[in-house]
Amino acid sequence: MDQKTEKLLEQLNAFTRRTHTLDEVYLFDLILCDNEIDRDGDCFSDAALAELQKRFVGVTGIFDHNPKSTNQTARIFRTELRTEPGRLTKAGKPYRCLAANAYMVRTEGNADLIREIDAGIKKEVSISCAAGARVCSICGANHLRKPCTHIKGRSYGGALCYTTLDQITDVYEWSFVAVPAQRRAGVTKTLGGTACDAETEILRAAYDDALSLLDRVSEFLRRDVIRLCYRWGENGTSKELAKSVLHMDTAELLTLRQSLMMSMEPVSQKPQLVPDSHEAEKAASPFSCGAAQRSEGRG
Ligand SMILES: [Zn+2]
Repeated sequence: MDQKTEKLLEQLNAFTRRTHTLDEVYLFDLILCDNEIDRDGDCFSDAALAELQKRFVGVTGIFDHNPKSTNQTARIFRTELRTEPGRLTKAGKPYRCLAANAYMVRTEGNADLIREIDAGIKKEVSISCAAGARVCSICGANHLRKPCTHIKGRSYGGALCYTTLDQITDVYEWSFVAVPAQRRAGVTKTLGGTACDAETEILRAAYDDALSLLDRVSEFLRRDVIRLCYRWGENGTSKELAKSVLHMDTAELLTLRQSLMMSMEPVSQKPQLVPDSHEAEKAASPFSCGAAQRSEGRG
């Protein structure tokens, strides 16, 4: 056992009731999150990363959000902030990520899971935490207190709009999931494992490209729905509705778009047999679809 592994084992054993040997545990590294702008247009501030670094030590991870797999839990026993010299985020800041060392006690029950992590199948990690501030990069508004009209992903006078998550007040869990919001999050290395091969890198690049295309389609859709909201009515209601669009996911945007388009159809295209006036009013309002009231939020 090399010195580094020995040190890790020592740190791990500080978390267990009895001392474990290297044979008894499975050690792996993961990237929990970073300060790069993610698929949702959010990033963590440096202060948030530092707070997460402190709070994630000792936190248990779950797999596929399946709480029944009691043998399949891993625990973080060490965290560190890493920088990559010369690398900048999309916002032009020095890149920083929060890396962690985790362990699982090897059992018959988790042998398959360990094989999957080794093979890179279980790779993506997502974290959940509570942030006290979500700050707009354009106007500095904290969206938790005061919404603004800037749209994430859009450029304002050459500056990209995104939200910075700050003031971490709690961390809940970390888990392996199919698609994490944070692109780079995931298992980076397992002890004794091998580095990624070229083919994996090509597939990873293709996957990133596909995600980026998805981002563009979803932003186009968001802008289009906002345009429809304003066309839908001249009153203050359309403005409020347009504001709520900022927090909708793609499925909700599609539902609302459908609803708006239907309500703006010329009368002659509507079926001749119409419901009574109250029902017709309800059907014509985009608020009748649940999507308008729902908003997504992280943490
Ligand atoms: Zn703003």
